[in-house]
Amino acid sequence: MIESEFKVFIKGICNYFERKRPQDDTLELWFDCVKWIKSDSLDFIQKKIQNNNDTFPKNLPNAIISAYHVFMDSRLNAEEDQVYVECPHCLEGFIYTTKKAWGMNYHFTFRCGVCRQRNEKGLPIKTPWEIEQAGYDIIDGGVEVLAPPVDKNRVVSLLKEIV
Ligand SMILES: [Zn+2]
Repeated sequence: MIESEFKVFIKGICNYFERKRPQDDTLELWFDCVKWIKSDSLDFIQKKIQNNNDTFPKNLPNAIISAYHVFMDSRLNAEEDQVYVECPHCLEGFIYTTKKAWGMNYHFTFRCGVCRQRNEKGLPIKTPWEIEQAGYDIIDGGVEVLAPPVDKNRVVSLLKEIV
């Protein structure tokens, strides 16, 4: 979303809860937390926050993000063709990592726990912080550096051909 859309959104929420609009500094801070959210979800988010809260949420950015997760969940179930939001923490919803184990570097893919825009059930949902805490190294830019797996039988038969 862009800042002007966010301001309109905040104005709506503040009016609903009869609360004074926040200072510009606060507004900017909030915007930084949620600007990756697509603006077409804002109507849904506003209604959700208004329905779920008796008063203005203590931590509005968190309330926005959790309402957005509900929005994404309902949409993921409804849609096949996904347009991925640009989340600063992942590549189209995936976080690519490596981890050393038994002297080898293994590659693991996670679903981003910040934007939660993927529904591949086999992949765990984790935030980058959780992932790093668990000892994985996040690959910058998410570039898939993994070579295709070597098929031993294929190598053997190639060698036979050469010999
Ligand atoms: Zn993400």
